Amino acid sequence: MVTTDSRQLNEKSVLRRLPEWFKVPAPGSSEGYRKLKSLMTTEGLNTVCEEARCPNIGECWGRGTSTFMILGDTCTRACRYCSVKTGNPGGIVDAWEPLRVARAVSQMALEHAVITSVDRDDLPDKGAHVFAKTIQAILRTCPETRIEVLIPDFGGDWNALNVVLNAKPQILNHNIESVPRVFRKIRPKGSYWMSLELLDRAKRHGARTKSGIMVGFGETTDEVLSTMDDLRDVDCDILTIGQYLRPSNRHQPLDRYYTPAEFDDLKREGSTRGFRHVESGPLVRSSYHAEEQSRDMVASV
Ligand code: SF4
Repeated sequence: MVTTDSRQLNEKSVLRRLPEWFKVPAPGSSEGYRKLKSLMTTEGLNTVCEEARCPNIGECWGRGTSTFMILGDTCTRACRYCSVKTGNPGGIVDAWEPLRVARAVSQMALEHAVITSVDRDDLPDKGAHVFAKTIQAILRTCPETRIEVLIPDFGGDWNALNVVLNAKPQILNHNIESVPRVFRKIRPKGSYWMSLELLDRAKRHGARTKSGIMVGFGETTDEVLSTMDDLRDVDCDILTIGQYLRPSNRHQPLDRYYTPAEFDDLKREGSTRGFRHVESGPLVRSSYHAEEQSRDMVASV
């Protein structure tokens, strides 16, 4: 007889086993990976690839691309899905970080640079001026490089948002992360509607906008489609959809794995709704194949 306990145990062990479509080459095996690791260490830079334990690190670093994480390695929020360290950085900012990021972008000869950050609610402008300085430093050093910033919500401080937008990144990315019902649970210090407003304001300022959804928290397909509609209502250009992977037992439980075919269906739904680019797949992360998306955007203008 299958008892409730043994059924729950089975479900848990199934969720613990990664489906075969998550099998990726072990990082560290390529020359590109080793070069990038050494560059980040020499320059004292953080990447979200490492801090968020991204499964694509072998592929992306092997291709010579990564996502810089500025403003330190300690986040003032504690989102339930994220493995980045949390704490209070005490208002400290590394004034030379923008220049070191620009130097690394130059050494990597990046066509497209993605810059993100931890949340810095301890700073008066939530770190917006450091985003702006980093964009300006890259533009000075590598004027041909396209720049994408993946920004926090700045606590709804629209002056801070404008500081970043005025530095003219090519793509303004802000992840909505999930559907409203789930959002409240996994991002208790954020607001779904504030994130949508941020994307709306960025678009009206003239930026190309991008957002991302993680699936696997227990949302329904209808809820995901409705979030796509919300993003299209604010004219968001690019959408990424990827599978949530629980970083540890302390994080939000995983409800289920979507199949590659379901990700294909979501991509079709997104394209039908008018996103100019939809990247959807189990391993898709916000910055996965970002250079190709931006190439598409530039080509279609
Ligand atoms: S998908 Fe993004 S975060 Fe993951 S390894 Fe690639 S660049 Fe880094």
